[in-house]
Amino acid sequence: MNEFVERKDWEGKDQKKPTRTISGVAPVSVMVPPRRCPHGVCAYCPTFDNASQSYTPESPAVIRAISLAYDPKRQVEARLKSYNAMKHPTDKIELIIMGGTFMGFPRDFQVDFVKKCYDAMNGFDSKSLQEAKKANEKAKNRCVALCIETRPDHCSEQQISDMLSWGTTRVELGVQILDDKIYKKINRGHSVRDVVEATERLKKAGFKLGYHMMPGLPGSTPQKDARVYKQVFSSDKFKPDQVKIYPCQVIKNTGIEKWFYERKFVPYDEKTVRDLLVKMLKATPRYCRVMRIMREIPQRYLVAGLTKIDLRKDVEEYIRDQSSKDHPAGRKIKINEIRFREIGFALRDKREIKPETIKIKTTKYSASHGKEFFIEAVDSKDNLYGLLRLRLEKDKKTPSMVRELHVYSPALNLGEREETSFQHIGLGKKLMAEAEKIAKKLGYKKIRVISGVGVREYYKNLGYKVDENNVYMVKDF
Ligand code: SF4
Repeated sequence: MNEFVERKDWEGKDQKKPTRTISGVAPVSVMVPPRRCPHGVCAYCPTFDNASQSYTPESPAVIRAISLAYDPKRQVEARLKSYNAMKHPTDKIELIIMGGTFMGFPRDFQVDFVKKCYDAMNGFDSKSLQEAKKANEKAKNRCVALCIETRPDHCSEQQISDMLSWGTTRVELGVQILDDKIYKKINRGHSVRDVVEATERLKKAGFKLGYHMMPGLPGSTPQKDARVYKQVFSSDKFKPDQVKIYPCQVIKNTGIEKWFYERKFVPYDEKTVRDLLVKMLKATPRYCRVMRIMREIPQRYLVAGLTKIDLRKDVEEYIRDQSSKDHPAGRKIKINEIRFREIGFALRDKREIKPETIKIKTTKYSASHGKEFFIEAVDSKDNLYGLLRLRLEKDKKTPSMVRELHVYSPALNLGEREETSFQHIGLGKKLMAEAEKIAKKLGYKKIRVISGVGVREYYKNLGYKVDENNVYMVKDF
């Protein structure tokens, strides 16, 4: 028996689709309290007095946050409790700070907020954030990744250094489109140049980087959206590691709601979005993960636009069907993006897997004035078991940087082994050895890893130590 039939889901039914922990880590989202973003409000973004900016008062995460007075500690504790009640392992946690622009909040608030999240995971209060971080290195609920959502104009050197000192490993940027005219029209308050600069700074700092893209904005067309999406991956200025695609919907209490009633704006219909999504999935390279498609907006807040939340499933089924040998059209649509190839989903969907044929495959590409090496453990069916992102700057005195190491499997408690677990067969070690080999061969003298606080022990066992600023794990060659 594997965990796909043993565990329970969120409602306590048999957990047949444990997608939330399928990648091996339990996500814990914490909402920030309602507060206007520093630049104002984007035209498509809902504003409600009692909900975090960009959320509606009836989104599940907001309901939970409101009931806990937006207290970060209580929010994390409540999430851990519900995971435990449903027997989901919580030894590896990805903490996600959501809502509004957290990096636009006062600094004291930010530090206190993050500290309280660590306190909740540790099970006791520390005197300072740095102490709480230290305690988390050996805590039962370890923070293996910390994600912050921000805007391209809120990624200054100072803000990046703050994020690093809190233990952040992933940053998600609201990019939406690459067009200054549209940015102006929808009051984004930043430019394409900000996206380019933030992308480079974040990658140089070692973060895993995600973009949020929004096809169907006022002023765009399906052709333009497809073109922009291709540009995201063809131009060296962008190339994110992951994307979330949220087609534009008309939501209550937004600027575009008014435009919709004035007939100045019409959102895309389902067929248009579906065709566009097929193009987008096809254009996503193998080093990028399409994290999510569609936002879950409670029906009564949706004025117009798509209502189908699980559109991704339809689109993927369509692609698989078109690609099947038995399809009369015989078209072969190859999808390379990460999530489509992950072993957890292959097992869930009962696709053929060949773990005995796992080999290391490296894809090299240029991005933001550096070289990226995407190192994967794949089998002969192209199922993905683990990955590593290595970045090399031109200047060889700059240490080589591991921006991500991830070995896929359903979340398992330490010590627990199952037939379907690939997290314990040394793939992480193999991927790290490959990265070190490449960096050394190309003349770099040092390697750094951005690591969640809770993964530091793992790297210590591989000969790494915490650097002098208490940020990265480092090793000299
Ligand atoms: S930056 Fe994000 S949260 Fe702020 S108004 Fe724009 S979309 Fe909403």
